[in-house]
Amino acid sequence: MSLARYAIMDGEVVPWHEARVHVFTPAFKYGSNVFEGLRAYWNEDEEELYVFRLAEHMERLEFSQRMMRLDRIIDGDHVASKVLELLRANETRETVHIRPTIFIAGDGDTTAQGPIHLAITAVARPLPERVHAGCSAQISNWERINDRAMPLRIKAGTNYGNSRYGAVQAKIDGYDTALFLNRNGKISEGPGMCFFMIRDGVPITPSVTSDILESITRDTVLELLRDRMGLSPVEREVDRSELGAAEEAFFCGTGWEITPINSIDRLDIGAGEPGPLTRRLQALYFDIVHGRDSEYGHWCTRVWGG
Ligand code: PMP
Repeated sequence: MSLARYAIMDGEVVPWHEARVHVFTPAFKYGSNVFEGLRAYWNEDEEELYVFRLAEHMERLEFSQRMMRLDRIIDGDHVASKVLELLRANETRETVHIRPTIFIAGDGDTTAQGPIHLAITAVARPLPERVHAGCSAQISNWERINDRAMPLRIKAGTNYGNSRYGAVQAKIDGYDTALFLNRNGKISEGPGMCFFMIRDGVPITPSVTSDILESITRDTVLELLRDRMGLSPVEREVDRSELGAAEEAFFCGTGWEITPINSIDRLDIGAGEPGPLTRRLQALYFDIVHGRDSEYGHWCTRVWGG
């Protein structure tokens, strides 16, 4: 079964099953790759597909390549044009998750800096139930890798080994997902999403020096909280025990969108259900990503229209 008709390999649209990598490549052996995760949202009324914050994702992909010290950097504009080409080739008329991956092929070892290849996939991702119902989180007993070990502020495949340990343990223990503490014992993020809590009406999120990915959704949320909801969000260190004092909490990310957190370590957050501020924020977010808010039109790239 194919997840889509086509993928992109090195600039070419190829049938899904032809997007292959050899087992001897550093990309396979050591996870030598950087990538992006972005979404395109289908707007049924307009019959238009909107890619959300394409430019910012491409900028981060360039940054990730630089930090990986690849022997050349594939330009973000080029990747962006290939993303659009793929969506058109697949005749995409539904919400999809897009993953451009830049990986090291050839037969090198862990120090290989090339040859560099680009692959892109885009597969359907309907809204998961947890976005409506909320989720449960477990404080992971796996520590978040820290910036002295790995650059967590970029999207490198190898960072997700740490994510996997936390997320799998949470699943085995009966939770929906994990929330990591960093080396300093402060809250960092989830396995693939950032964390916010509301305490006494104030939104609080771990700072970008808390061993987190510099998330584009986090940036979006901060802007909406300020500009649309008239709040003054704070970016700072967050202690574990503060979670018990929160009246609301949510995860945010391209994949997790805005997902309410109902409980952490089986301790209810507020009433143990999605809170009113989180709900308002979700409504704003989903309007914007579907291109329904003209003020944020610059964040939404049309795939089919003018
Ligand atoms: N943290 C991690 C570890 C992630 O993988 C992601 C998903 N890319 C996020 C946070 C959220 O980032 P963004 O909003 O840019 O998708």
